[in-house]
Amino acid sequence: MRVLIADDDVTSRLMLEAIVSKLGHECLVAHDGSRAWELLSSEVIDVLLTDWLMPGVDGPELCRRVRHELNDRYTYIVLVTRIGQPELVLEGMGAGADDYLVKPADPFAVKTRMVAAERVTALHRQLASFRSQLEEANIELLGQSLTDPLTGLGNRRRMEEDLERAHARALRLGRGYGLALFDIDHFKLFNDRYGHLAGDEALRQVAGCLDKFSRADESLYRYGGEEFLLLLSDCNLDAASTAAGRLRRAVADMAVPHDARPTSPNVVTLSGGVSCWTAGSSLSLSDLLQQADGALFQAKSAGRDRVHVVVQHDGEPGRAPVAI
Ligand code: GH3
Ligand code: MG
Ligand code: MG
Repeated sequence: MRVLIADDDVTSRLMLEAIVSKLGHECLVAHDGSRAWELLSSEVIDVLLTDWLMPGVDGPELCRRVRHELNDRYTYIVLVTRIGQPELVLEGMGAGADDYLVKPADPFAVKTRMVAAERVTALHRQLASFRSQLEEANIELLGQSLTDPLTGLGNRRRMEEDLERAHARALRLGRGYGLALFDIDHFKLFNDRYGHLAGDEALRQVAGCLDKFSRADESLYRYGGEEFLLLLSDCNLDAASTAAGRLRRAVADMAVPHDARPTSPNVVTLSGGVSCWTAGSSLSLSDLLQQADGALFQAKSAGRDRVHVVVQHDGEPGRAPVAI
């Protein structure tokens, strides 16, 4: 263990140093409380043997600082007092000391304190390690609870949280944001032809492709089933429709065979609906989602494998979408 001896009395300090070193511990020394505090704040100290009265910072103050300010590790504190000062011992333990020694310290008494210190500091290290494992597990679990297990994209819960945040931010800053809702075309027929496992694999491929071709400021989610949502921050309708078109083309170009569909091309494709919130608009988030869904419906009706965009004028939701 690393033991710090803080004592302004040279004899007492040398005696303690000799005993502690003989027990096989690494010894650091401080001639006053201020130097002791410097060492405690900059070094890893397992045990502090501190005098009661010292120039600068005294023993009880040192105890209080260790307990209040050095929270990342546990330092075992032993107060070194003169004989016949039980009230000081109690005061020191109230300030954070774990135990006490009476001057002049004898080797056996120091040894027993070191045994206790070793056990207590090991327990605290173990506790700290459990705590950090628990924190890591919590972060992992939180990630899992927001991730769609099949595709690895953000799930519905993450989507809802992010959408709320994006809408609030847009209102606050007066910046636009866009949504694109995608749906795989004739996916039921795909499952019927190739089976559900192949369907799952196709969903993974589409998600991977969307992820690969989306940009850093674009967030993707599995909306549900064979539907995906793209959230675009700080963007206008042009940028949103360009992004949606880019992703639709990327999926078609991937050319996953889909021979069961009634219309060409005989590969897996997406239809998409785009809506955009612009500064000053009174549309709500759910209005915007509804608009994207309406545009998606139009894209499906118009023949699939295309993106429709809602050209929105505030107060006139539901205007005819435009194909791109
Ligand atoms: P449309 O072009 O009009 O969208 O036709 P569609 O067949 O894609 O639409 P429909 O809503 O009739 O069918 C969606 C299909 O998506 C049916 C469902 O079994 C399938 N699906 C949804 N989630 C999953 C999934 O996790 N795995 C698989 N394999 N299929 C899924
Ligand atoms: Mg669908
Ligand atoms: Mg579909």
